[in-house]
Amino acid sequence: MVKSVKFLDLHKQYLSIKDEIDNAISSTIESTSFVGSKTNQKFECEFAEYQQAKHCIGVGNGTDAIEISIEALDLPSNSEIIVPANSFIATSEAVTRSGHNVIFADVEENSYNICVADIEKQLTSKTAAIIVVHLYGNPCNMNKIVSLAKKHNLRVIEDSSQAHGAEYHGQRVGALADIGTFSFYPGKNLGAFGDAGAILTNDDNLSKRCRLISNHGRLDKYNHVMEGRNSRLDGIQAAVLSKKLKYLESWIQKRNFIAKKYLAELSDIPGLILPKVDPKTRHAFHLFVIRTKRRDELQQYLSRNGIETGIHYPVALPKQEAYRDYKDIESCPTANSLDSEILSLPIGDQLETFEVKQVINEIRNFFKA
Ligand SMILES: *Cc1c(COP(=O)(O)O)cnc(C)c1O
Repeated sequence: MVKSVKFLDLHKQYLSIKDEIDNAISSTIESTSFVGSKTNQKFECEFAEYQQAKHCIGVGNGTDAIEISIEALDLPSNSEIIVPANSFIATSEAVTRSGHNVIFADVEENSYNICVADIEKQLTSKTAAIIVVHLYGNPCNMNKIVSLAKKHNLRVIEDSSQAHGAEYHGQRVGALADIGTFSFYPGKNLGAFGDAGAILTNDDNLSKRCRLISNHGRLDKYNHVMEGRNSRLDGIQAAVLSKKLKYLESWIQKRNFIAKKYLAELSDIPGLILPKVDPKTRHAFHLFVIRTKRRDELQQYLSRNGIETGIHYPVALPKQEAYRDYKDIESCPTANSLDSEILSLPIGDQLETFEVKQVINEIRNFFKA
């Protein structure tokens, strides 16, 4: 019997760096520096450097990172914020939680990222910001987005939760516009051992505001210049992340290596659409998403043959029950048809070449039959 192929093997990743991780956790416990430790500052500097940003603020999770970023921008209340129709709900949830209105823009046929022409169609006098998502680890067309934003005086947040290590025209994502947000949820390209997140920016003032908002608006222990909230990066998570960050670059390269194999060996199958990589970008391949009209059939076939897959995401955001009052459900035709056709293949830093071959063989078998 052939061994099954996991969608993502976090346990195997842990075993590959177990001693370092265990030591980092136990020294945090020994030092009892659980909140706001030196390790936090160390990780923030290291992550800012890796992502080529000036400032990094560690926060509680990737959703808080978006909420805090929106609040830091100090937009007029009840502003409209444009987000892509195909994303995880955190992107749109953060808009509503911050007292603003979600406006969905459709995604592009080629990249599945937010469609710049559709952003333009959704603009009104109340539009104040755009949140772009570098979905699956594939950078958005930031030149077009930033120039559109300049023209209409809009702020831009990059939700980079799936794009640690991704590059756009030679520059890592997260600080290509006003502010960038990251999640270190365990399954992300850089994952903590629980919830964690970060904000990046090159803007000194925004950095200060994010830091204040995430930590009770305090300058020091009992000196509060504003009301904020509590969303800080946990000390143990910072210690784990700092160790894992040293491997991130090789993990991103491994993901690209696997993606190249998939791209080379699945490209001749009629009816199967593969991710398109812009040669001016480095895709971080958090997810390797294929598209076919026979998605459900293919997923069942792979599952019967021991191959785990995922769907990101099975219901486009405007169609979610949570957005039942959203008026313009038909306005995102691409996202609305994509959700029944996309399938995420196993990819990760621990996936073996023979497992990649097994996935490729089974997909070829399926389409041959
Ligand atoms: C994971 C994710 C988030 C949310 O991050 P959490 O850390 O789980 O709060 C936000 N946006 C996108 C696109 C994500 O993939």
